[in-house]
Amino acid sequence: MTEAIITFDHVVKEYRRRGATVGRPETMRAVDDVSLTIDKGDIFGIIGYSGAGKSTLVRLINALERPTSGTVTVLGQDVTGLSEAKLRPVRQKIGMIFQQFNLFSTKTVARNIAYPLQLDHWRKDYQDKRVAELLDFVGLSDQADKYPSQLSGGQKQRVGIARALATNPQILLADEATSALDPETTGEVLALLKRVNEEFGVTIVLITHQMSVVQQIANRVAVMSGGKVVEQGDVYNVFAAPQQAVTKRFIATAVSGLPEPARVASLHDEWSGRIVTVLIRQRESQGGASGAAVSASGQNISELIARYGVGSSLLYGGIDTVSGSAIGSITYEFSGDGDLVERFLAELSRSSDVIDFGTAAAPVDYDAAVAASGLSTVAAVRHEEEAR
Ligand code: ADP
Repeated sequence: MTEAIITFDHVVKEYRRRGATVGRPETMRAVDDVSLTIDKGDIFGIIGYSGAGKSTLVRLINALERPTSGTVTVLGQDVTGLSEAKLRPVRQKIGMIFQQFNLFSTKTVARNIAYPLQLDHWRKDYQDKRVAELLDFVGLSDQADKYPSQLSGGQKQRVGIARALATNPQILLADEATSALDPETTGEVLALLKRVNEEFGVTIVLITHQMSVVQQIANRVAVMSGGKVVEQGDVYNVFAAPQQAVTKRFIATAVSGLPEPARVASLHDEWSGRIVTVLIRQRESQGGASGAAVSASGQNISELIARYGVGSSLLYGGIDTVSGSAIGSITYEFSGDGDLVERFLAELSRSSDVIDFGTAAAPVDYDAAVAASGLSTVAAVRHEEEAR
């Protein structure tokens, strides 16, 4: 049973434009008619480029910003018009972590974590016990008396997470929480957030401009552009069948394995057979907001290769896991006598999405190959990006 924990209903947030000029409206919409439901227990990714309206959307959740119109409901309470006093208990149920960690540089790790407990007037011995628990949970028990400047970025964010969890919130807002970290540390912090979600049942709203972050831990995602949510759904469905150009662009940065034009050219130089990329989707997607379902792909390649007896060499590729299912692509050289390869490819195309780049002797133009594959997908978008 899913249960809504945060609901945006036709929310608009307008700001007065700075330095307004004649002929331009005086206000701009940072959030433009957003309707969105985040369920209890979700790790909900909100992805978009800088200026898309992500931070504004998140600040509407803890009512640091009030909507111009529409309503925001958090934990069953319409927070849109609540007084500061009435907001206090709602805000206590919401923790937040930041890109720049926002720790007190003059307080030790333990004092940083204890700070929200002090504000909440916890008894000193309860504070100490809670801080020890949290330090243990984030793996920093031996750093309690250090100052933030003595810690690595990943350790600082772990302190940030411990502090955000101190008063047992039900919601954790993470605003670009891993954007200042290297990939390995990002992975560690994301793994910790996943534990926060699984062990404490905390709902996490994750703002990011990195699709790989969404891919690693989110179960649902909304893509923002120009203040609007242009696409949303289960992470696998959005990765398997992105609808909007902006989503495809984000996914192109996360899903590996598609050869670029230069790579295809060099494969033709080395291999005389048919160069074919097969898209891998382990399961079908139910389709996102548009309802367009996309079937699985690349599931029976080995079986078909064996059945037809075509020669095959695996040349290039990459497969990643999204929500527990494989997504990616693999590029092969296929060879064989007569029209064997043609018949094999015809059958393969019936059950999979393939991009046929032809042979060295009869190459297919990259754009034409992608277009012929009927995939206005990631490959095309990435190529478009690179061509800029
Ligand atoms: P993101 O988090 O996706 O980068 P923001 O929500 O920070 O986007 O900003 C969305 C738009 O709203 C941007 O054009 C930004 O300049 C504008 N904006 C954000 N906060 C304010 C503010 N307090 N006053 C005026 N404009 C703002």
